[in-house]
Amino acid sequence: MSDAELQKNWDVIVIGAGLGGLSCGAFLSKAGKRVLVLEKHSKVGGYAHHFTRKAGDDVKYHFDVALHVTGALDEGSSSRRILEEMGVWERIRVKRLDVMYRSSFPDFEITVPADKELFRQKLSDQFPDERAAIDSLFSAVDAFAREVKDLIKNSVPGGPPPDDFAEKYPTLSKYMVASLHEFVSDHIKNEKVAAVFCQLWPYVGLPPKRVSAFLYMQMWLSFFTGGAYYIQGGGYALSRAIADVIEERGGKALTRTEVARILVENGRCTGVETAKGEKFLAPIIVSNAPAPLTFSKLLDASMVDPVYLDQVQNMELSVSITQAYIGVRGTPKEIGFEDAEYFINPDYDAEAGFDRMLSGDYSHGACVMANNTIVNPEDTPPGRSIIEIAILADGKRWCAMPKDEYRKHKAEITELLIDRFSEVIPDIRERIEVIEVGTPHTMERYTGNPCGAVYGYASTPTSHSIFRPRPATPVPGLYLASAWTFPGPGFGGVLAGGANTAQIILRKM
Ligand SMILES: Cc1cc2nc3c(=O)[nH]c(=O)nc-3n(C[C@H](O)[C@H](O)[C@H](O)COP(=O)(O)OP(=O)(O)OC[C@H]3O[C@@H](n4cnc5c(N)ncnc54)[C@H](O)[C@@H]3O)c2cc1C
Repeated sequence: MSDAELQKNWDVIVIGAGLGGLSCGAFLSKAGKRVLVLEKHSKVGGYAHHFTRKAGDDVKYHFDVALHVTGALDEGSSSRRILEEMGVWERIRVKRLDVMYRSSFPDFEITVPADKELFRQKLSDQFPDERAAIDSLFSAVDAFAREVKDLIKNSVPGGPPPDDFAEKYPTLSKYMVASLHEFVSDHIKNEKVAAVFCQLWPYVGLPPKRVSAFLYMQMWLSFFTGGAYYIQGGGYALSRAIADVIEERGGKALTRTEVARILVENGRCTGVETAKGEKFLAPIIVSNAPAPLTFSKLLDASMVDPVYLDQVQNMELSVSITQAYIGVRGTPKEIGFEDAEYFINPDYDAEAGFDRMLSGDYSHGACVMANNTIVNPEDTPPGRSIIEIAILADGKRWCAMPKDEYRKHKAEITELLIDRFSEVIPDIRERIEVIEVGTPHTMERYTGNPCGAVYGYASTPTSHSIFRPRPATPVPGLYLASAWTFPGPGFGGVLAGGANTAQIILRKM
């Protein structure tokens, strides 16, 4: 085979260099497979990347697009093991956080430690009358953790659940299709305690009565039992490190290369064609591109089983996010804002705030403010702070707006976010040097995720993890690895998903 032919012939092609695709590619290349990653953007990483803005000639801010916090990086924890096996752990530097978040409610505030037992203690100290209920909730959390650990240890990637699932895993079985609210309210009646425990709901994109208990608890446990971390240099430091190991093992990550279609011959994948008409061949294709687009834009939908197609195309999309990335004059101490994560809750009715947000009213509703400089000082210019303010956003509404309306709406939201931040730092307006607002439209533009969905499909009680499309698809040779597929979103979710997809592929190769 000539060099030119060799360059076009690969063992595996990964479409998209988001963390799920990169994770899958890294495990396949570790097993000796020649892996080509094709990414349409100018950088690898998908949401796990960063951008730079200058304030004058001397001041340069690096903004992390997505990462606020990631879990399970303590020794022996799941994401740490994945990164170690991938050969990436020694290439990144991480910072362990002592505080998970500070929460403010209309009539009280609480600072939550990033450790399960300390959290339980803190809640009991702040709500002594609720001690028994809190202990009961945390016992259920422990049972949940034990069962998940056992299930992962004893299950085969992509395999069915064991026949005796209900007897062996009673807690998981009970809450498999339950909401977070149902799980918590079996133990806690006090709305304040419940609100503090459920505070991380914006990180899974649905309020407690609508989000899967299973998914929330997976994420919760990753932080409170596996350690809450920030990656130095941001999410891009991780994606770049994974792309590097793929390339060092003989693979290639080509950026600015959009895949326009997946090639299929005699019902089997044979390669891909790029938007520029170039063809790359491989018997195995892994799509890290959004699942709904994989089966509508990249493949001829008529070759896919209609029942499967219906699931992939019509499951509910997750919400999007509008996030302001702000560079301000003043260190965290000088501006009086030293929280890595600070949630502001206008009331206890998360569902109503979420609905108002969906109808376009962002003046209330939970928002999270983060001082990124606390966790990632090296990306902040001296004497400055990097602040990020995020609110959930209805991606469908944003992405359907005509241009003029979009611009107007974006300007209004920018003002609103600054106003909300002024409640915390009154002189913030005078301190701002740089501000950039990413809307659902921005998220869609840079990653291709429809309507800027940040968590793939919505993680409802019936569309989380095991209910999502599995790695193997009905099209021979085509596999999936992204936030849209099993087990789900977040850095930890897609790293595990990519590893799982790789194992399934390797068993068949
Ligand atoms: C503002 C924000 C904050 C977040 N905060 C956190 C957090 O604190 N902690 C956490 O764990 N998670 C967080 N997340 C979620 C997390 O970032 C995502 O779940 C995860 O990164 C998604 O990875 P993915 O593998 O699905 O790929 P994506 O990031 O969706 O990337 C997909 C890639 O595929 C490429 N692509 C698509 N179509 C094509 C094509 N046809 N050809 C070539 N390339 C293509 C895209 O350009 C993109 O690079 C956040 C997300 C956002 C947006």
